[in-house]
Amino acid sequence: MKAFIEGMPKAELHVHLEGTLEPEHIFALAQRNGIELSYKTPQEVVDAYDFHDLPSFLTIYYAAMDVLRTEQDFYELAYHYFEKAAADNIVYVEPFFDPQAHTSRGVEFATVINGIARAQEAAAATLGVESQLILCFLRDMSAQSAMEHLEMALPYKDKLIGIGLDSDEKDNPPSKFAQVFAKAREHGLKLTMHCDVNQKDIHEHMWECLNEINVDRIDHGVNCLDQDDLTQEIVRRGMGLTVCPVSNRFVVQSLTSKEIRRMLELGIKATINSDDPAYFRAYLTDNFLELQREGDYTLEEVVQLNRNAFDIAWLTDADKQRLLGKLDRYVARAS
Ligand SMILES: [Zn+2]
Repeated sequence: MKAFIEGMPKAELHVHLEGTLEPEHIFALAQRNGIELSYKTPQEVVDAYDFHDLPSFLTIYYAAMDVLRTEQDFYELAYHYFEKAAADNIVYVEPFFDPQAHTSRGVEFATVINGIARAQEAAAATLGVESQLILCFLRDMSAQSAMEHLEMALPYKDKLIGIGLDSDEKDNPPSKFAQVFAKAREHGLKLTMHCDVNQKDIHEHMWECLNEINVDRIDHGVNCLDQDDLTQEIVRRGMGLTVCPVSNRFVVQSLTSKEIRRMLELGIKATINSDDPAYFRAYLTDNFLELQREGDYTLEEVVQLNRNAFDIAWLTDADKQRLLGKLDRYVARAS
């Protein structure tokens, strides 16, 4: 099982590039950019990762990002993640980035997106990792700021596949961003939003995602199982969910293996993802391995979760079939 999971060609749909910033890289960038850190070694940084809820994570997360300043820094951030992805046999990924976390520090939007886009091209050519980028808005900032950033992004539309919504969910409902998301839709961008595990008003937020925003998929979304009518609506729409087991464990002390199995039983297109792997110390293969162990998942269940990711990816049908072909051939060889 372990070797099968490691070697399986995978897709990842919920990973924040800023969440792949490794402690060693924080130190290297701080040195290059002349920034003084309050930690003496990379290990001290890891030791400070004491997350117990979303806000405690976000505080450390945003502080570390300050070392990212130049286009080369963003190139390296993304390329280092793609190297990890290649090692996990990820063949396709739709990574998130948070431009407002950088423009608010005086970094130009162009610096961020050009560095990431250059890494995407290099990764496809040299590592065999294909990707399409999702711009996330920070929901604890204003709708006006999100709109300004959408307008900044539109000249770079060909570098984006969709938009998302992340950061602190408390009292920041999807409806706050209805206009921004409607405008992005007009420009042909796909739509997703975080519905983080066990947040305040989570069920209302999920209904708003479905009925007001008309999202194409939902990030996390585990709480759809709490209410029958919500569960049924997710099933009826064939809505994809990007679930992050190790990330969930920081909030609910479980990898939500029972909930994910229930989703599979109901035919919900649940997928497995790493979220912020440098902080949660687990990339995609680790997430699969830990989940399989906790839930004693069968090979078929593991393959189905991975197949769902290709299935709900924002790819053309031809690309989807081509990449699913890699998975099918792998499964056929292994059985
Ligand atoms: Zn996330």
